[in-house]
Amino acid sequence: MITIPKGTKDVLPQESYKWQYIESVLREVASTYCINEIRTPTFEHTELFLRGVGDTTDIVNKEMYTFDDKAGRSMTLKPEGTAGVARAFIENSLYANAQPTKMYYFTPVFRYEKPQAGRLREHHQFGIEFYGSQSAQTDVEVMSVAYDIFTRLGIGNLVLNINSIGCPECRARYNQALKDYFKDNLDKMCKDCRERFDKNPLRILDCKEEGCKAITKGAPITLDYLCDDCKEHHRQVVEGLEALEIPFVVNPNVVRGLDYYTRTVFEFVSQNIGAQGTVCGGGRYNGLVEQIGGKPCPAVGFGMGLERLLIVLENLGLSTGVDKPADVYIAPLVNEAKITATVLASKLRRTGLKVDSDLMDRSFKAQLKYANKTGARFMILLGEDELKANKANIKNMTTGESILVDIDTVEKFTF
Ligand code: ATP
Ligand code: MG
Repeated sequence: MITIPKGTKDVLPQESYKWQYIESVLREVASTYCINEIRTPTFEHTELFLRGVGDTTDIVNKEMYTFDDKAGRSMTLKPEGTAGVARAFIENSLYANAQPTKMYYFTPVFRYEKPQAGRLREHHQFGIEFYGSQSAQTDVEVMSVAYDIFTRLGIGNLVLNINSIGCPECRARYNQALKDYFKDNLDKMCKDCRERFDKNPLRILDCKEEGCKAITKGAPITLDYLCDDCKEHHRQVVEGLEALEIPFVVNPNVVRGLDYYTRTVFEFVSQNIGAQGTVCGGGRYNGLVEQIGGKPCPAVGFGMGLERLLIVLENLGLSTGVDKPADVYIAPLVNEAKITATVLASKLRRTGLKVDSDLMDRSFKAQLKYANKTGARFMILLGEDELKANKANIKNMTTGESILVDIDTVEKFTF
């Protein structure tokens, strides 16, 4: 048997309504903020991610699905959603439009990771990106989109963690402070962190190894190394969140896994889904557009893991939408009724009703069982007697009541 690749998942027909539900809520909330959708390709030139995401990140170092196409060009399946949007922003001169440019996306994301609960090799993200604005108010608005989504879905227990990792200037001083702090403990730290120490010490704070986490506890914190402008930006973010009554904690350990962040970084974390608790992560990335070849342009956004969002909804017993059953199941009880049933089904579908009919040549009993099992709201029985009288027997499956109507008038019946 050919099986599904490790770390990937099928969404089966009996569960796809959950995805459609989540997607519709996300689209609705995005629309209340006047954010339009952007769709970019599933694969991009590898160079985009090398330059955009950064070659000191785990994603670029070990997790990318990279291949040469038939012409020998190196391509990579999207390992995150932001770089492709930034590429499209530059390539299509979206900066020439009235700013800000507010976009959302749905995308599959590919990372060669160790599969476990809440960690897949292909997962899906909803993300938003606001380009063109420096203001702290924009950071707040971006977090507010995520907060509204969780509220709309009924999730009240995610903790918003925020931090500021400053601009490149603050970062240089902070990285030096981190090096001074970690240098005596290097032999107790994991191999990855020893590499991070040289290339990008900030990443050490993101390490999931228990040993490293323990050492990290006493490390200097970014907020103590911010320049005046970055400090003021952070103060305004805090003020904005408070004004909107969005609960949050300032957590100096949030540094995010990607190189492109500047100033504000944030995560919405769930206590309900174990180690992989981060449902949404984002922040400001003022350097990205320039880094991949555009004119400097500030930006802020987030990515939200849809598989994890679904796990949270299910763990909390919240609604994941409804799999709407058929409005009508049409049951031809004799062979001669089959064509009549098909024609009637077709007419009713054109009025917008969900109509199911027998495609399995089932007996009456089996059809009744099927209609009950699938939860059809009404059944239309077409037996020998009905056919002769040109009638349809409409049965309300909830009340059990039946009514005979002329076949030609079934379309007028209120189902
Ligand atoms: P983590 O710390 O859990 O590895 P991350 O920092 O790598 O997350 P991001 O790159 O910010 O995650 O991606 C945004 C969101 O996408 C995450 O908050 C999470 O909900 C989801 N996500 C990331 N990686 C995976 C994965 N391998 N499988 C499922 N969901 C994921
Ligand atoms: Mg990760």
